[in-house]
Amino acid sequence: MDVETHVGYHKLSVDAQDTVTEILNRFRVADAPALANVLRLTNRPGGYDADTSLYIADALTKIDREDVAPETVDGPAYLDDADGLRELEKLGYLTVHDLAYETSSASYLDEGRSLTAIRVLRPFHTVGVVYRWRRALIGPADQWDIVTRPGVVWPGVYVHGAVGDYRSRDVGLVYAGPPELDTDALIYAIREDSDVFTCHAVCDRCGADWYAADGSWTFRANRAHTDFDFDDAHRHHGTTVMCPEPLCVDGRVSFTVG
Ligand SMILES: [Zn+2]
Ligand SMILES: [Zn+2]
Repeated sequence: MDVETHVGYHKLSVDAQDTVTEILNRFRVADAPALANVLRLTNRPGGYDADTSLYIADALTKIDREDVAPETVDGPAYLDDADGLRELEKLGYLTVHDLAYETSSASYLDEGRSLTAIRVLRPFHTVGVVYRWRRALIGPADQWDIVTRPGVVWPGVYVHGAVGDYRSRDVGLVYAGPPELDTDALIYAIREDSDVFTCHAVCDRCGADWYAADGSWTFRANRAHTDFDFDDAHRHHGTTVMCPEPLCVDGRVSFTVG
C-alpha cells in the first residue's frame, strides 16, 4: 500500500479515502460516467434529486417523451430511487457483489470504507423525467420533460468505492474489466494490496520490531524484548516515539500500516 500512515499523540491511522482512491486507480481500465450518473440519481446522499424520476430500458429500446407520459401503463420500467441498484438487479441488468466492508473501529482506517463490484450483464440506458402539476395539484401531472439521458451502460465489471462510518460518501466508480472478470480476484487484490488491519513498528537504531493488528494500539514484540502500548509511548516527536527497548539509546520507532 502506498498510503501515508498518520501518527500523532492520539492518532495512528491511514486515510480511508486515500486507500479507496488507490484501489480504484489500480482497478481502473476506463472511467464509467454513464453508470456513475445512474448511481448519482439513485439513493446517493446529497447527490440524488428527489424530483427526478428514473426510467430504464435495454440499450436497443429508445425512450421518448410520450413513453413516460403520466399514467402510461406499457412504458419503460420505473426505477425506485429508494434502492436503484437492487431494482436493476431484480430486472436482470446487473448483479451486486460486496468486495470489502471495513469499519474504523476494527482497522487502522480513520473512517469506514466499502468497495462494491457491479457486474453489468446486459447493456441498458436510463432517462430522468421531471413531472409538474401546473393546473391541478391532484391527479396525473400535466407537464413532464426528460431532463437527463446518462447514456448506455455497457456490460462489464464496475467497482464503486465509498467511505464513512455513519453516512457513506462516494469516492468513485471505475470500469474494471469485462463481465467475466472474477470478483474473488478483486477481493484478493484488496486484501493483499490494501491491508488496513496490520501495523508494523520498527526502531531505526536497534532494529527491534513489533506488530499490532485489527486497529489495536498494543504492539507485540517480534524481534524485541517487550510489548508496548502506543498510548503509553514516550517522547512523541513528529511521526516517531522513543524506542521502549531497555538497552536502546536514542532509537526512534516509526509506524507503517499495511
Ligand atoms: Zn531501539
Ligand atoms: Zn512519558
